[in-house]
Amino acid sequence: MVVSIAPKLLINGELVEASDKKTFALYNPATREKVADVPEASEQDANAAVAAAKAAFPAWSALDPSVRAGYFKKLADLLRAHSSELAELEASSMGRPINQYFDAFAAAGNFDHYAEAWPQIQGQASLNTPGYVTMTLRQPMGVVAAIIPWNVPLLFLSSKCAPALIAGNTVVLKSSEKAPLTSARVAQLVIEAGFPPGVFNILSGHGLPSGAVLSRHMDVRALSFTGSGRTGRLIQEMAAQSNLKKVTLELGGKSPALIFADADMDKAVEETVNSIQWNSGQVCMANSRIYVERGEAADAYKAAFARKFASVTAGDPLDSKVNHGPQADEVQYKSVMAYIEEGKTAGGTLTTGGNGTLDKTGGYFVEPTVFVDTPETARVMKEEIFGPVVMINTFATEDEAVAAANDTEYGLYASVYTKDIDRAMRIAKALESGYVGVNCTSPATGRDLPFGGYKSSGQGREGWLHSLDNFLETKSVIIKVANL
Ligand code: NAD
Repeated sequence: MVVSIAPKLLINGELVEASDKKTFALYNPATREKVADVPEASEQDANAAVAAAKAAFPAWSALDPSVRAGYFKKLADLLRAHSSELAELEASSMGRPINQYFDAFAAAGNFDHYAEAWPQIQGQASLNTPGYVTMTLRQPMGVVAAIIPWNVPLLFLSSKCAPALIAGNTVVLKSSEKAPLTSARVAQLVIEAGFPPGVFNILSGHGLPSGAVLSRHMDVRALSFTGSGRTGRLIQEMAAQSNLKKVTLELGGKSPALIFADADMDKAVEETVNSIQWNSGQVCMANSRIYVERGEAADAYKAAFARKFASVTAGDPLDSKVNHGPQADEVQYKSVMAYIEEGKTAGGTLTTGGNGTLDKTGGYFVEPTVFVDTPETARVMKEEIFGPVVMINTFATEDEAVAAANDTEYGLYASVYTKDIDRAMRIAKALESGYVGVNCTSPATGRDLPFGGYKSSGQGREGWLHSLDNFLETKSVIIKVANL
């Protein structure tokens, strides 16, 4: 398929090539065919984008927020109107089946939400200090950078840029080199929506150079990142070594689902399969470890899980009947396959998938794969595989289940299925996780709830009103008043 756009960088309101004309080739992971040449933003381009954002900041931050909101509403309408096209661009760059595409409507929903949410940005006033009136002001920080991954690109683009922009900041976003096409299309829509030049800049390229330039830039005051723990640590280091910019990190996961024998097993099977199969397992909060209460119920659960997980329809992600696409690229494919090979010698049993291939189109397809009874100490039990691969173990007691669930550096999402409300609440409290689902699992989330990780799964929280805090300074003002 020939992609319908010629991707460009959006810098200071203009769509441009990279300053040194460098591009990188993007391949369709379902067919390995080249789909586009994408501009590789240079150090100079990243600096130019930050300079444009800095220059645009005074006028943008001085606007009435309802005027800023007007641009948001136009962009939201454009995103919805182009949803099918955006779905096709994502399918051909990172392999997401078009029938799983919800990102354009979700992104539009985020821009719509923040177009109405600005009155929630409020300070406080008090008379608690005798002789003074005191108040706090919430003010934008200046230039904000956003660096996003490839698995759900427009969701992250919108959930970072919309709150930053409505609060009066200006933005430089860098898309992922694995899925740059939808962000490049949004760059065109940003112009169509009429955003003033320099307010909303969009770069494509690899972590090096442009991502690193943003991370250590002295004029970037806040940086919101979603991606791997490895990159998150590098960004945190670059922030510390430059201007100590405020960094929000949404990182990886190894999310456990605990399933007790009294649970609604049909529902548990359906939802836990969906969690690890959706987007071919390339989801930070996917339940990649499952612990089932030992006994007959566990045997029935494992058999039903395997049947359902193996019944995917793999193929061309542009085919609306397909619900299982390829991994995002060759690097991801090889990484998942290496973990599968390691799983085979880790001491557990491979019960589903893991051997052949589902490939019908010449792409990077991985079979839904299940390992059972793998020793807790194995690397495949501890590290994020980021593919359609699940480890199912059993437990005898509640304490044992919680201890195993918590025995990882990650803590993004955890879930428990049981009809016993006391047990559910005990476990919800004990799990070291930023999100807990009771009788549900990921991707079930509430848009107005804070999302983020315990431990090495991240730092800070995102979520409708919570995200505004990531992009606002708080200033205390103290006013001396005579005879008060
Ligand atoms: P990644 O860390 O490889 O890349 C993420 C982004 O960082 C890309 O835009 C990349 O170009 C950029 N980058 C790479 N090196 C950089 C550097 N040195 N400096 C600055 N930027 C750099 O991650 P990925 O493979 O794109 O995404 C998968 C990871 O993201 C998984 O670990 C997944 O769990 C995580 N993730 C987390 C969440 C969440 O909300 N917690 C959501 C989705 C994905």
